[in-house]
This record gives sequence, structure tokens and C-alpha cells, in this order.
Amino acid sequence: ASVAVVLGTRPELVKLAPLIHELGPAARLVHTGQHWDEAMSGRFLRDLDLPRPELLTGVGGRPRAGQIAHSLDQLDDAFAERRPVAVIVQGDTNATLAGALAANARDIPLVHVEAGLRSFDRAMPEEHNRVMVDHVADVLCAATATNAANLRAESVDESRIEITGNTVVEVVRRRLPARAARAALLAGYGLRPDGYVLATVHRPENTDTAEALRAVLTELDAIARAGTPVLFPMHPRTRAAVDRFGLAALLGRITAVEPVGYGEFLALARHAALLVSDSGGIQEECTVLGRPLLVVRRSTERPEAIDAGFAVLVRPGPELGDTARSWLADSGKRLARLAETDSPYGDGLASARIARATERLAGSAAPVAA
Ligand code: UDP
Repeated sequence: ASVAVVLGTRPELVKLAPLIHELGPAARLVHTGQHWDEAMSGRFLRDLDLPRPELLTGVGGRPRAGQIAHSLDQLDDAFAERRPVAVIVQGDTNATLAGALAANARDIPLVHVEAGLRSFDRAMPEEHNRVMVDHVADVLCAATATNAANLRAESVDESRIEITGNTVVEVVRRRLPARAARAALLAGYGLRPDGYVLATVHRPENTDTAEALRAVLTELDAIARAGTPVLFPMHPRTRAAVDRFGLAALLGRITAVEPVGYGEFLALARHAALLVSDSGGIQEECTVLGRPLLVVRRSTERPEAIDAGFAVLVRPGPELGDTARSWLADSGKRLARLAETDSPYGDGLASARIARATERLAGSAAPVAA
């Protein structure tokens, strides 16, 4: 009996890796091909020691509805043929929604990992994906009490909700390179521990208009000019937007590089004086690494890092630069405090809890994992 783990993007590979290992040979990966290239996928499968996924094809370049429809159609065929005892999806991507709808159509029990996140921002397609998936899932793995409360507020039955913690805790602990390797890596970039900013942006709100992207890059450029190195691994969407809007001149002082592998990213984040990002996953990782983060977004579905004092929301313009300068000015005190602050994302046993919940749902008397 196999459990189908449906995924399609970099953050899904990262967050599902500990669960896939926990499930062992029972887990069969199905990749929708949403991010399918060496930098965003191939390297992550290797870095995270993941089994080779079955690859669906042809989603690239399609608009949202086309991606969902195309993946749904292929997943339906795959599930009809292989009959998984359960389907697992994670997060809020188009792959997540397609996996959930395909499981629903074939009447296969569905587990949603990272259930109950809500930004309450209906302009984000991810918010709609989250809500739809939560309402068809049979087991909703809420990472935090806040996530569970969001589900109850939408009248999700208590019996479907499990508070599990977030698998980010275990993936970061396992994949953070050892101290010596981190030191060598930083030296390779010419960076001093606690002496640089690590930035990523890729969300539509920061990359779809020239104004927004220019506002972000202008502030990062000013930080670099003032003497704090800014390392900027660029998502393919961001690289394309910089070219399209003719903003390459703003990258003169910023160290813009290709996306880096997972262990490398964690090592760089672990020693950054400040993280600047619109990523979802980095809002969780910063709490495990004990590093401060400016979230360049108008809303977040992850209030936990903000409530615990790791992060703050900033607008792309001067608010980003002003907050960065003020946080960098008292960096020592902040880093000392965050090093003593617990992550709100749990104890590092989330993947074990989710695997057991999956096994119960699949109704197997014997554990699914070999
Ligand atoms: N990440 C990485 N290399 C990079 C940039 C990000 O490994 O160059 C990791 C990061 O640590 C996090 C994940 O990719 O785990 C975040 O992916 P992304 O920002 O694409 O998606 P989101 O988290 O916003 O859904």
C-alpha cells in the first residue's frame, strides 16, 4: 500500500522531506512539474535525499487555471491506476489544490500538511488554495494553535484537526551544515558572521510591477552602499522581472546570485545579521535559526514569527530601508535575545505525528511505514 505525496515547488520539497523519510518506502512522490529544473528541484531532491518522483509534465507556462486543470487530469489518471491508500499535500500551491481535488474525485483519504494558515488577504491566490484544500481534507495538520483556531472559526469539525507542529523544525535541524562547513561557505562569499544581509523576493506583489521591485531593490542597494554586504539569491521569476523592467543597474552593489541549495541557504541565513524576504518558509526558518527577518509583504498567513519577536511586516519602500537600518544598528542585542527565544513551530516531531495520523486515516492495522 502506498501513500501518494503530491508536490510541485521548492518549499513543498523542503517541508515534506522529513515526512517522506518518516513514511519510508510507503511514500510515492508525484511531482506536478510546477518548478521543475535543476536549480529549483533537481538539486533539492538530492540535497534532501528524496526518492525520485513520478514526474507529470506540461504545466510550465500555463496560467493558474490551466496548471490546476492539467495537473488534476494527470493526477486523476495516476490515482486511478495506482490507488494510493492516502494522499498527502502541503501548503498552498496550485499543486496542493490539484492534489486535493484529485484525491477528492477518487474518494481517497486526504491529509493537508500546514492546514489553517490564513492571511485574510483575498487578493492572494494562495489564500484561496488554502481555504479550498482545508475544506476537502480529511485530516488537517495544523502547525500551531493559531492555525487550529482559524479552522474552527470556519466550522471545520474538531475531529479532523490535529495540532502537529511544523516539519520546518526538523528539516532545519537536520539540514543545517556543521559549523566548520558554514564557516568555509561564508569565507567563500567573503562574508563575516553577523555582518551581512541575506535577501530573497519573488512574490507577485513585489515582482509584478516595476514600481514595487524598484522600491525593494533601491532599499537593498542603499544598505549595500552604506557598507553592509547584501547577498541576494534571485528566484527565476525575480530575475525575469529585473530584465523585463530594466532594473539591472540597481544590482551593482548588491551581490545577486543564482538560487542556492538548501543546506547552503540555511548556512547563509544562520549567520545573517538580518534576513529580508517575502517567502513563506523563511518566516518559519528564521525562528529555528534565531535570526531577525523583515517580511516584505502587506499581509502574512504566518503571524507566529511576528508575535514571537523574530519578524515584522514592512512595505517595499523606505519603511524597508529605515527598519533595516534601525535593526542593524542594534543587531548585537537583538541577536542575543533571539538566540534565547523558542521557535513557535514546535518540538521537531511534527513529521512523526503527521505520519501516524496518515496511517490512522488510511486505516491500516499495521503501520504504513516499513
Ligand atoms: N531557499 C533555498 N535557496 C534559495 C532561496 C530559498 O533553499 O536560494 C529555500 C528557503 O530556505 C525556503 C524555501 O526555499 O525553505 C522557500 O521557498 P520560496 O521562497 O520559493 O517559497 P515560499 O516559502 O514563499 O512558499
